[in-house]
Amino acid sequence: MSEPCGVIAELLQELTKLPGIGPKSAERIAHFLLAGDRRHAVELARVLLAMAEKIRPCRECFNLTDQELCPICRDPKRDAGVICVVETPRDVNSLERAGTFRGLYHVLGGRFAPLEGMGPERLTFSALVDRVRRGGVREVILATSPTVEGDGTALYASNVLGPTGVTITRLARGLPSGSSLELANAQMLAEALEGRRAF
Ligand SMILES: [Zn+2]
Repeated sequence: MSEPCGVIAELLQELTKLPGIGPKSAERIAHFLLAGDRRHAVELARVLLAMAEKIRPCRECFNLTDQELCPICRDPKRDAGVICVVETPRDVNSLERAGTFRGLYHVLGGRFAPLEGMGPERLTFSALVDRVRRGGVREVILATSPTVEGDGTALYASNVLGPTGVTITRLARGLPSGSSLELANAQMLAEALEGRRAF
């Protein structure tokens, strides 16, 4: 592949757009996909297409799912009285791996960063307030990242939720400051949930 052209060049171009994939990794992946009977390439293409067509935000919590409601919202054993507010679907995965939270989630779709054009209208705050207003929610846990923007996002959420009268808590400090929930290990997340405090 000294002079990639046509489809191979396109493949390399697309692969290098992926996070963490530089030109060398892209070339290694392309070689792998082109080797042998190419069933990996066909299978990968099938899964990518299905993902692009079927995966969408859950109607209720905005987690990613291939159905109307995600498996967590569909699970009757989860406690619908506690909603944990996170920035991204990856944060849901991190907290689920921690394994101690039995309530439901609400994915904001990012963090409040007005200077970067991430104003409240681009996040799912109003759907969150609607969920709480529908009733049955005792507590909202603000589990945004331990960063300046994450704190700002939590503050904004608490302001819009204030009039509903719901109890608002924030994850305990102790997570590495300035990072994302994703980087915290399961034990740290479980402790941060356990030690949550009134916001
Ligand atoms: Zn859901």
